[in-house]
Amino acid sequence: MIEDKNPARTNLDDLGEFGLIDHLTKNFDVKHTSTLKSIGDDAAVVSFEDECVITTDLLVEGVHFDLAYMPLKHLGYKSVMVNLSDVYAMNAVPKQITVSIAVSNRFPLEALEDLYAGIEMAAKIYNIDVVGGDTTSSNKGLLISITALGHVKKEDIVYRDGAKDNDLIVLSGDIGAAYLGLQILEREKKVFEVNPQSQPDLSPYSYVVERQLKPEARKDIPLLLKELEVKPTSMIDVSDGLSSELLHICKASKVGATIYEDKIPLDPTVISTCEEFNMDSTTIALNGGEDYELLFTVKQEDFLKIKANPSLSIIGHIVPEQEGVHLITRGNTKAKITAQGWNSLGENKEN
Ligand code: ADP
Ligand code: MG
Repeated sequence: MIEDKNPARTNLDDLGEFGLIDHLTKNFDVKHTSTLKSIGDDAAVVSFEDECVITTDLLVEGVHFDLAYMPLKHLGYKSVMVNLSDVYAMNAVPKQITVSIAVSNRFPLEALEDLYAGIEMAAKIYNIDVVGGDTTSSNKGLLISITALGHVKKEDIVYRDGAKDNDLIVLSGDIGAAYLGLQILEREKKVFEVNPQSQPDLSPYSYVVERQLKPEARKDIPLLLKELEVKPTSMIDVSDGLSSELLHICKASKVGATIYEDKIPLDPTVISTCEEFNMDSTTIALNGGEDYELLFTVKQEDFLKIKANPSLSIIGHIVPEQEGVHLITRGNTKAKITAQGWNSLGENKEN
């Protein structure tokens, strides 16, 4: 389905490990004064005046991505995004990453060049130094693990556990699209398997497909919050779906929450695609993942600063822990939110 834009095939074994590392990392320049030593020694050296946040993610072929529809350049870009998103969710600024790959020799050098082109592009746009990594062989698929370092002043760090009763619950951007993009790509993969000549027209779905294949981490949100002089009381990134992230905040903060179905921000394409697939858009918004938006809570007194901002939606508020975590539907019923989404029957023991 994805055209092979790089038809040359150079065997990885021809380069050897060190040749390969040199080749893949030759374009990485150092942008930050906090990077004292980058690629080329036994370890990188960084120096921060403030606190350092560290996060890592491991992506496995066949589990987290499918190369039938995920171009390697996009995979490289997305692998960086999933890590940066975690750094922004701490209200920190990412500065350095390391990239480790395990790769089978079924991949030619050109495939890894594509992967690294995506990593390089992400590093450029998000102002990140690639300071190291590891390269090894794998018997079968491709594994990619990225670790990100970010810096933040101690007083600016935002954890998951700071939400308090009455705080407002805020979401950046819109959600549900990445999950639908995956459904579209899975559908087209099946069509392609039956008919390899098929040329899918994905243009009606370009937004949702792009949200799946080329997500962007919300680097603008910590900056915006600083500008608005708002420090969230808690924050998390939406990688697994709104309901599960909201439950994480509530559990860590020992609070409950009430959110409103009609306040959940959805792109029009999400609504139309859900209609086409006969899916409930609220269920998709709550359970779909990989949106990489930021979910956070702010004090009531920050309402006016947040309210009119087009990047932010206030979707509900925090309540005492014993009241539980609920969705108020458009029909004004109260449905308990579970990790799998929400109980549409509105049954719930606590009320
Ligand atoms: P060592 O044997 O000490 O682990 P390596 O030979 O694996 O060192 O790596 C040499 C240098 O190249 C190190 O600075 C390492 O961080 C970097 N490096 C190795 N693999 C990668 C990779 N896939 N991406 C970026 N940097 C890498
Ligand atoms: Mg090594």
